[in-house]
Amino acid sequence: MAGSPSNVTRYRGRFAPSPTGPLHFGSLVAALGSFLEARTRDGDWLVRIEDLDPPRVDPEATGRILRALEACGMHWDSAIAFQSSRTDAYHAAMHTLRQRGMVYPCACSRREIADSALAGIEGPVYPGSCRAGMPMERKARALRIRTDGARIAFADYLQGTIAHDLAAGVGDFVVYRADRVYAYQLAVVVDDAEQGITDIVRGADLLDSTPRQIHLQRLLGLPQPRYLHLPVAVNGTGEKLSKQTRAAPIDCARPAAALVDALRFLEHHPPERLRVAGAGDVLAWALENWRIERVPRTRVRPVSQYVTSTTRD
Ligand SMILES: [Zn+2]
Repeated sequence: MAGSPSNVTRYRGRFAPSPTGPLHFGSLVAALGSFLEARTRDGDWLVRIEDLDPPRVDPEATGRILRALEACGMHWDSAIAFQSSRTDAYHAAMHTLRQRGMVYPCACSRREIADSALAGIEGPVYPGSCRAGMPMERKARALRIRTDGARIAFADYLQGTIAHDLAAGVGDFVVYRADRVYAYQLAVVVDDAEQGITDIVRGADLLDSTPRQIHLQRLLGLPQPRYLHLPVAVNGTGEKLSKQTRAAPIDCARPAAALVDALRFLEHHPPERLRVAGAGDVLAWALENWRIERVPRTRVRPVSQYVTSTTRD
């Protein structure tokens, strides 16, 4: 990315975890990558808690994630944003989309869609059954956004050009769920704009969500941030590290070792002696030596060769 002439907006990055469990190695990589990009560009680094999905939220997790970030010396700017307190903003965005005729109610169950759909990039493609109106006797379950002929292409700083035909790959997607929760895609777009995020650095598991988010940005007239998707840590069977795959929490008593492992995963190799130093020493080395060009341009990386037993899944 080019240098920063004075008329360019100040860099603002963010780390946006879902509080479904403690910080594990995979989420530490995303936190560290976004932190180092922001700090080495003299930017702000914000934290946003994506606690929009009540059934998945673990009430203990937010505190544990924030304590782990602090133990690792990654201090955030501004107040932490919580999606659970942003419903009015999502409601306003939905109002805009409805006014523009881009949203329609859908009565289809998951089963009905699966029975009549083609396979897409992330499960069945919605076949558009309710696009021209629902059958009289049916009730709306969810709200969907029209994708029409939207083709979205964007340049990811690490992963190259990503181009999606939204209608063919996903179909009209849900923006308000049957369980009365705003969909992740809408919330993220509204929040990134509200927080003035210029640069999104996150795991490549979200790469395929990005075209949907850009579609919503365009419909809402919001600025499009730059994107950089880091490789995602996967376990021996190729699954993303997560609470579901029983990834171990970061050991907050040994943050330096965890940071060294995360740096090695991103192809940065601090001296081994820093494993037993303070977290601040590792971050100081990282800020001095961070080169985004060194990070592998792949979507996934097996975690096993980069981590010690303290952070292994
Ligand atoms: Zn439908």
